[in-house]
Amino acid sequence: MRKDSHRHQGLRTQLVQELISKGIQDEDVLSAINTIPRHFFLDEAFAEWAYTDQAFQIGSGQTISQPFTVAKQSELLEVKKTDKILEIGTGSGYQACVLAFLGCKLYTIERQEELFHKTSALLNEMQFHQIRTLFGDGYLGSERFAPFDKIIITAGATSVPQVLFDQLKIGGIMVIPVGDGKTQKMLRIKKISNTSYIEEDHGKYAFVPFVKGTNNLSTVNLG
Ligand code: SAH
Repeated sequence: MRKDSHRHQGLRTQLVQELISKGIQDEDVLSAINTIPRHFFLDEAFAEWAYTDQAFQIGSGQTISQPFTVAKQSELLEVKKTDKILEIGTGSGYQACVLAFLGCKLYTIERQEELFHKTSALLNEMQFHQIRTLFGDGYLGSERFAPFDKIIITAGATSVPQVLFDQLKIGGIMVIPVGDGKTQKMLRIKKISNTSYIEEDHGKYAFVPFVKGTNNLSTVNLG
């Protein structure tokens, strides 16, 4: 486990100020960002920049989202302590920790097996026991643990998957970036009934793609 220090704490406080200046208001989300050591989730080589408002490579061709994006998606979810939340795209596990800090029960799915193992080990070490990591295709959600109060997708989708909508409780919220090209609109969807929802657009973002299927360690890629 890497060390957290007063210097890191100071950098986090500065990051929180930056997020406030960019429009983040939720006190609990800001407190989570002020507390969770983001440098634990990055490769050692990038640790120096962990508290700048940037996304970084985390291996397997994936990224840890920019702190502003993590804060925005968390704020839009309106997390309550009683919530059961599904995250699609575990990645580094940072977003999962921010949500778990808010007191919910969190299920998170990752399709890259190598990343799944690495992040599961880290979350275990950090003792975030209310996070359950799952290996699989997020397009299928989790039949086993559905329905969810909230669903957050941290990869860029081309549309709202029906299966995920079906796994959301009535009255529930889904936060999902949707777009055709390199950028997506951050949509907040409130489920009104099994066939209707209200949609809000919360601005433009750029995510790695939401890809169907899984990438298993045993897969041999011929080249
Ligand atoms: N929430 C992450 C962001 C990771 S980037 C963090 O805080 O670090 C998006 C992640 O979504 C990647 O790790 C990618 O592998 C994963 N992903 C993409 N398509 C997926 C799918 N169908 N099912 C599960 N995970 C998926």
